[in-house]
Amino acid sequence: MTTPANRAHWTGSVRQVDVLIVGGGPTGLAASLMLRSAGVHVALIERERSLGGIPRHSRHTGYGLRDLHRVLSGPSYAARYAALAEQAGVEIHLTTMATDWSAEGHLVTTSPSGVVQWAAEAVLLATGCRERPRSARLVPGDRPAGVLTTGTLQQLADLFHLPIGERAVVVGAEHVSFSAVHTLLGHGVAVAAMVTDQPASQSYALLRALACGRRRIPLLVETDVVAISGFDRVRAVELEDRRTHARWSVPCDTVVFTGSWVPDYELARTRPVSMVGPHPQVDQGLRTGHPGLFAAGNLVHAAEPADICALGGRQAARSIVQYLTQGEWPTRGVELVASDPFVWTHPSRLTSTVERSTRGRLLTRVRRFLGPGVIELVQTDRVLRAVRRRRLVPNRSISVSLPASLRVDLAAGPVELRWRKVR
Ligand SMILES: Cc1cc2nc3c(=O)[nH]c(=O)nc-3n(C[C@H](O)[C@H](O)[C@H](O)COP(=O)(O)OP(=O)(O)OC[C@H]3O[C@@H](n4cnc5c(N)ncnc54)[C@H](O)[C@@H]3O)c2cc1C
Repeated sequence: MTTPANRAHWTGSVRQVDVLIVGGGPTGLAASLMLRSAGVHVALIERERSLGGIPRHSRHTGYGLRDLHRVLSGPSYAARYAALAEQAGVEIHLTTMATDWSAEGHLVTTSPSGVVQWAAEAVLLATGCRERPRSARLVPGDRPAGVLTTGTLQQLADLFHLPIGERAVVVGAEHVSFSAVHTLLGHGVAVAAMVTDQPASQSYALLRALACGRRRIPLLVETDVVAISGFDRVRAVELEDRRTHARWSVPCDTVVFTGSWVPDYELARTRPVSMVGPHPQVDQGLRTGHPGLFAAGNLVHAAEPADICALGGRQAARSIVQYLTQGEWPTRGVELVASDPFVWTHPSRLTSTVERSTRGRLLTRVRRFLGPGVIELVQTDRVLRAVRRRRLVPNRSISVSLPASLRVDLAAGPVELRWRKVR
């Protein structure tokens, strides 16, 4: 492989680099390491004061299996990637936020030292995702203190060591919800109940046991939070059973909204690139429709575990090196469309290039519990791939291998992701 030339320099007030990465989480850091190993000059922009993304404040174990081949706590995982990026000579800019694009197409960043415009041969957006807060879930009622997401809970508890409360209700029953329970219990906060609109928990029994220990936390299924009350501090949540419409109140001083992920897509929207729902559309090489602009990690599949994101970062880095050395950008491609009960697919486009998606896999999610049945990839009534599944669980990662033999006709219509129920 030819090593791309290092073109890092200033042209007037514009900083020119080979590759600019926005986001110093697992995706951006893993991509930066692979790019450095290919001799590419990389600048990485991170709005926080330290590198690592979400794992910095996720104290439990469970990080790093598929990318670093060891199991680490979130902070150790983040620290390891940060140290590797520094050793590798990545140009790191902390407390720097990418805010916009200039008329010339340069990325604009703001930091305590001022506003900078960046011209890069390639830009990778690795801005991750966040949990949908109460306001976006349109939960009515009072506006007291004590309403959090898992992300804010863990930052307050584990980064800033602030008191949380005494009795909490956790909204959600997926993996991240049990991470919230783990944090609450670890900080002496009782969990009054977990509430989910689904008919059952969407996490593994082992995770539930690790988070809850011997405590019996009531799981209220098919239930919605319909109001929050309290003056300066939360006093109670009002719940409604979806089946009976019965309403009742649970006293608590803290409410934690978990999951329901929203990608941090603002920079993709303003470029603009094609979006599929809240995700920028990318092909199997993490390319958007805009030459030189790549997107990876939870920005394109909200949300997968950190190691899957890191592997996606590496895949994006391979595509970037290919682009820098060969200058080719695929124009022929077909859309990959998710039909109900699937919520989204990653990748969302298949192009003419031969490389496969992250780990050669398609990632997706379903809206509801299903099974048994067959996941099918269909193009104009031709079944390209069929995979039998006993059960599909909402809010849980579903992955389907994409073999190199997959025969997609780039001149035909979209490829559809479908579910066929079987007995
Ligand atoms: C509570 C919780 C528990 C979890 N537990 C596990 C677990 O046990 N195991 C596991 O594998 N995964 C776990 N995950 C998932 C894992 O943390 C994420 O999948 C992973 O961090 C995603 O990586 P990312 O780089 O795509 O995004 P992030 O980690 O979110 O990183 C994105 C980075 O981009 C920065 N950024 C965003 N916008 C801008 C901008 N405009 N300018 C500059 N910087 C910007 C952000 O500050 C952030 O640092 C957990 C997640 C949560 C929330």
